[in-house]
Amino acid sequence: MGLSKILNYQQGQWTFGSGSGTPLYNAVTGDEIGLADTTGIDFGAMLTYARERGGPALRKMTFHERGRMLKALALFLSERKQAYYDVSFSTGATRIDNLIDIDGGIGNLFAYSSLRRQFPNLPYLCEGEPARLSKGGTFIGHHLLVPREGVAIHINAFNFPVWGMLEKIAVNLLAGMPAVVKPATITSYLAEAVTRDIIASGILPEGALQLICGSAAGLLDAVNEQDVVTFTGSAGTGRTLRAHPRIIELSVPFNMEADSLNASVLGPDAVPGTPEFDLFIKEMRKEITTKCGQKCTAVRRILVPENLVEAVGRSLSAALAQTVIGNPRHEKVRMGALAGKTQYREVLEKIELLKRDSEVIFGNPAHVEVVDADAGKGAFISPVLLLNSKPHAQRSSHEVEAFGPVATLMPYHTLEEAVTLAKLGKGSLVCSITTMNEDTARDFVLGAASHHGRILVLNRESAPESTGHGSPMPLLVHGGPGRAGGGEEMGGKRGVMHYLQRTAIQGTPTTLTHITGTFQYGAKLTESQPHLFRKHFEDMEVGQTVFTHKHTVSEADIVNFANVSGDNFYAHMDATSLEGTIFTQRVAHGYFVLSKAAGLFVDPAKGPVLLNYGLDECRFTKPVYPGMTIGVRFTVKEKVDQEKRSPEDIAKGIVKFLVDVYDETGETVALATILTMVKKRNQED
Ligand code: NAP
Repeated sequence: MGLSKILNYQQGQWTFGSGSGTPLYNAVTGDEIGLADTTGIDFGAMLTYARERGGPALRKMTFHERGRMLKALALFLSERKQAYYDVSFSTGATRIDNLIDIDGGIGNLFAYSSLRRQFPNLPYLCEGEPARLSKGGTFIGHHLLVPREGVAIHINAFNFPVWGMLEKIAVNLLAGMPAVVKPATITSYLAEAVTRDIIASGILPEGALQLICGSAAGLLDAVNEQDVVTFTGSAGTGRTLRAHPRIIELSVPFNMEADSLNASVLGPDAVPGTPEFDLFIKEMRKEITTKCGQKCTAVRRILVPENLVEAVGRSLSAALAQTVIGNPRHEKVRMGALAGKTQYREVLEKIELLKRDSEVIFGNPAHVEVVDADAGKGAFISPVLLLNSKPHAQRSSHEVEAFGPVATLMPYHTLEEAVTLAKLGKGSLVCSITTMNEDTARDFVLGAASHHGRILVLNRESAPESTGHGSPMPLLVHGGPGRAGGGEEMGGKRGVMHYLQRTAIQGTPTTLTHITGTFQYGAKLTESQPHLFRKHFEDMEVGQTVFTHKHTVSEADIVNFANVSGDNFYAHMDATSLEGTIFTQRVAHGYFVLSKAAGLFVDPAKGPVLLNYGLDECRFTKPVYPGMTIGVRFTVKEKVDQEKRSPEDIAKGIVKFLVDVYDETGETVALATILTMVKKRNQED
């Protein structure tokens, strides 16, 4: 019987290359599990297919529709998790490792799905505040972000075949770009299993996702100026790919996540007997053994006050000695195997390099006891702890990454020195400090931040809910400067921006209102008939305005408002106290002006407007004195469609209104954006 074939999904079809294939091995048993091959596959045609099929389909959808698509996908994959766990054991991953890779990947889809609420219900978005470019206000600028018209090409490392794929596609799909994913060949069979289900689900539009299982040499020859390439892997491969002539000539964004010598620091206060010392030992053990040390974020350098080196060495060795290693399916096993024999040999070579400057204080790289497995056949290795007692002079600990369960302990004398040592990694994805002292935390974070993508402060208070040193979070940036690749991914909304083109647009407020779908101050107003409070969500249009009655402000208004609110600030209450202030008379409370504005713009009878749930921006731009007459221009600024949370939920949308309060000269005295919920039509049935 022949080996099973790991297929590529390309141009709507599952295919195997025309070659004989590269065998892939089970990391635990050493058995061959399948063949991967891409010989003869036309990568250029795949990219064209994504640009011509997937791209247009995704760009037609709004951010909200794309977000709901991600949610449907996350729910669909959640139901099939067990099948992926079964496949994942063959990569050497334990149950806990599976939670990180598989559940973590699906969690990313959920997180990015929820992010849709931070975007408009449009295919594109407008960013930040408009820029006023002229005195008269007739010429303004704004920033528009539209999906790039190319492909997101994701070249991934072997260690997280599912998370690596899902955390990246979640972001480009929300942005409206299709993806071609190239998992590392050695564990591509797991990415293939998940992709098979994704494609079969029909949840993504055709062309939104394609998969390459096997060599992708030549893939970048076909990139174009609208594509985005992301790379996760070793710095060497990354450097070669980043220097590809097409990447350089066409300025193709290339996001690189490379190897990183992440540090973790024990604060000087965290002596044995404190909860912080115990937390640190637990965290270091977790970092060394999880995923058999094959995490880009794993702690490689453990920085400890000089007087605590011995205590940490002893406690951490004792903790590591308790790690049960072996068949990841066995319930007692806490650490599985490396991804393969090649990785095992590489880790041994790197340990030899590290040993030039360090001594091994725990673990024998050449020997390991395993449970329910054959140590000779699987890619098993013992955790290894080294000690480098001269970390300034002996630099290999800051330069050599052993991508396995390997870390080096190093002493420091002052916190400043700990910062310097952390920076010797020349830029890392993450570092952490365990301390209960807030000054230590601040000084370390401010000192080390320039060289790190993320910094965790761990102590007895953050620990119970901490996600740990090693976990990149969808809402926080993942990436690091310098050696870590200089890239940045995820980070909530920030990540989506990498797949959008930012374009500065200039014109009149009316033109920009029309383009952006959001009312720009100064644009033409259309009087609403009937009053906006009589209209349902669908019937309101951006720019429709209610011009209210006027009200002349009196001293009695100010006194009454002071009584109701209890705000007796001198400028409202004492006309004799105004010398040296900007006020020339008793000034009306800003909140009175806003409250009175509500009295003017609200149409009180029961109607489609359900509630007002807050204010966005609010500015009091000119003092209002007794005798001045105010009126309101009340304009639909933006509409945000909402989904029903349950069948019983009222169908409604959010309407943001611009409240422009002006005086008898027509000049604005207060501006605010109020947020309301407005019913959709046919709610009475
Ligand atoms: P790698 O050998 O550099 O490979 C990374 C990816 O590049 C693989 O998918 C590989 O495919 C692909 N590749 C190689 N040559 C290519 C080419 N000419 N064209 C297109 N693709 C090409 O790294 P790895 O061994 O998989 O991963 C381990 C390393 O990744 C470690 O050093 C680790 O620190 C780093 N890592 C970093 C992060 C991070 O977020 N910073 C995360 C995980 C891992 P093949 O498998 O087919 O060769």
